[in-house]
Amino acid sequence: MRKRKIYIKKKLKYRIKVICFIIFTVLILNCVNNIFNSFHISTDETLINENEQNINNQKKENQEENILLNENNSYEISSDRQDIDDNTTNNFERDINKFKNKKLIAFTFDDGPNSKTTNKLLDNLDKYNARVTFFVVGNRVKTYEDTLKRAYNMGNLIGSHTYNHKNLFELDDNQIVDEIKKTNDVIKEVTGSDTLYLRPPYGNTNKNIKNLVNMYNILWDLDTEDWKYKDKFKIAKYIIDNAHDGGIILLHDLYETSIDGALLAMEELSKNGYAFVTIEEMTTLKGITLNKTSNYFNIK
Ligand code: ZN
Repeated sequence: MRKRKIYIKKKLKYRIKVICFIIFTVLILNCVNNIFNSFHISTDETLINENEQNINNQKKENQEENILLNENNSYEISSDRQDIDDNTTNNFERDINKFKNKKLIAFTFDDGPNSKTTNKLLDNLDKYNARVTFFVVGNRVKTYEDTLKRAYNMGNLIGSHTYNHKNLFELDDNQIVDEIKKTNDVIKEVTGSDTLYLRPPYGNTNKNIKNLVNMYNILWDLDTEDWKYKDKFKIAKYIIDNAHDGGIILLHDLYETSIDGALLAMEELSKNGYAFVTIEEMTTLKGITLNKTSNYFNIK
């Protein structure tokens, strides 16, 4: 009888052990399965996000490429306008009096705006306490209005580089006025502010053109030829070697090498007592009143 009891007890213990083992195994398997699934899903999501990102980047690059190719005949370009607040007032103010005892130099950028390169420059200006002047091509303004608005709201000066970047010597009077008016209108539409400054394409202007456009004609005396070299070190070296008080530097914010070259030069020149100002700030600091009949190669 006692033997029988011991036998039943042993059997029961064995059964409990087996049941426990089965429950434990099921739990472990379930757990492993959950972990695997969640990893799998998150990997898939990452891949999907990355793919979407790549597609978006590709779309953006294609769009930019098309715009660059069609620069001269793209009156109507689809806009990449996103969420823009409608406050177009430039509330930016900086105390330029602190630059009074410094050498002044104006970095000017033609042919933009351009989202990637212009924004790279804007991202880095505060490092050098710098503001610059953009002479924008009118037919690009709506496409890159976010970028232009940002540049303006930061306190950079926005000037005109005409609507289609045509050689003004080859246009009749009506066409010249049209190039100027359309650009000034679109700049005002985006920034809310009139522009008074013009850089004629290729620096080509004359008495008749100046009378027609009725703007301040800003040329340059430091030509980096950045579009030709596309070499940031060469561009930076040219600026550093030729910098002088009142100088106006010609660059193009279409090229990353131009932006990098400008920033390298700022790094060096800031150690040599230079301040980086807009054309307007420079004239204010130097107490110069511009007129609309002169060509300004520098501000002295
Ligand atoms: Zn140009």
